[in-house]
Amino acid sequence: MQKLTGKVWRNTGRALFGRDPMDWRYICVGCGRVSTGRMWQEFGRRDGAARAAAECIGNALPLSEQVRLFQAGGCLWKAAGPVLLSGCVEIIDEPRRAVFPFAEPGMRTSPPPVSLLLHTRIS
Ligand SMILES: [Zn+2]
Repeated sequence: MQKLTGKVWRNTGRALFGRDPMDWRYICVGCGRVSTGRMWQEFGRRDGAARAAAECIGNALPLSEQVRLFQAGGCLWKAAGPVLLSGCVEIIDEPRRAVFPFAEPGMRTSPPPVSLLLHTRIS
């Protein structure tokens, strides 16, 4: 697992995606979806920049849709669990935490699989 100080991590985010952390792109290590803090904000979620850094975008859905997403085999991974996930980045200070790796600047974002949800029914 890559280990970085918070300062180095922020400098890397700025160099890749600009000064506003809401625009920084992260890859979910569970499913490969790319999301930003601004996408979380579009779902009415506060603290979007921090959530995008550490949670798959599926977690931005309302709880009832998260349940359906889970039952359909969708991804609800979070970097900050009791076990450090392979592929995550560990920030070693301020405070210590795990985050998803940054995406490459050219990678497109991936919204949650809403079309999947629309065709999934709880039996
Ligand atoms: Zn995911």
